[in-house]
Amino acid sequence: MRRVLEIRNLTAGYGDVPVLWDVSLSVPDRKVVALVGANGMGKTTLLRAISGVISPSSGSIVVGEEDVTGLAAHKIAARGVAHVPEGRQLFPAMTVRENLALGAYLPQAKSHRAESMERVFTLFPRLRERQAQLAGSLSGGEQQMLAIGRGLMLGPKLLMLDEPSLGLSPLLMNEIFVTVERLRSEGMTILLVEQNVNQALLLAETAYVLENGRIVLQGRAQDLLKDPSVRTAYLGLSPPAEPPTARGSQMNSSGTHHPGSNS
Ligand code: ATP
Repeated sequence: MRRVLEIRNLTAGYGDVPVLWDVSLSVPDRKVVALVGANGMGKTTLLRAISGVISPSSGSIVVGEEDVTGLAAHKIAARGVAHVPEGRQLFPAMTVRENLALGAYLPQAKSHRAESMERVFTLFPRLRERQAQLAGSLSGGEQQMLAIGRGLMLGPKLLMLDEPSLGLSPLLMNEIFVTVERLRSEGMTILLVEQNVNQALLLAETAYVLENGRIVLQGRAQDLLKDPSVRTAYLGLSPPAEPPTARGSQMNSSGTHHPGSNS
């Protein structure tokens, strides 16, 4: 299967302090991949390394067929990688429309700006209604929609979402997950960092668990969700309500992988 993103043995951090060690991860075309783990484990740092905000000290990052390791952030964005950061980082004193327009600053995106904006407004009708409103006056949920919309304005081949549901009410959280599902069904390739592990794994095809800067577990999202020991030890979830079937258990043992283990 064609990969949109392939990371091999990546080590990265801030100054002399490494945060990520030997991280390998791949995102297939038109799939959602979830990256989960407790606070401070390095998820945001990994997205920053992919988008070129920080430079890896070793390892490689390949987008499509091209090695982009060490390229500046604007050059990686130009390869079609859109990063929707945690905390949204909108321009509060600019309107919804102006914030969206800024997402299409690169020449190839600029030429499709009107079309992309229409797509964003179709996806988020609330943004169409509020297009002349200042971003700083939007509700938290609307700001998250705007942040995702701005990422989509790039016309990305990879959309990276960092904690899109953070700080939202259950109702708005659900709205964000419905949006991610819709993007998935339209064929968008997504790398999703999400503290709502259950929802993330329901949306994703495959998932990686990051612990202290290392990938400690990876596998098919539904296998991880079904495995009682994985749920409690790695995902911070309670065991599944119904015991897994014999077929389910077999799938679990073959479907997940602990990097670095001998099994
Ligand atoms: P959270 O969900 O809390 O954001 P995370 O898994 O995304 O957690 P990171 O934000 O990547 O974790 O942080 C990983 C480690 O890197 C933490 O120990 C954090 O203190 C450190 N760190 C993050 N940003 C910086 C920075 N700008 N300078 C120095 N250290 C940082």
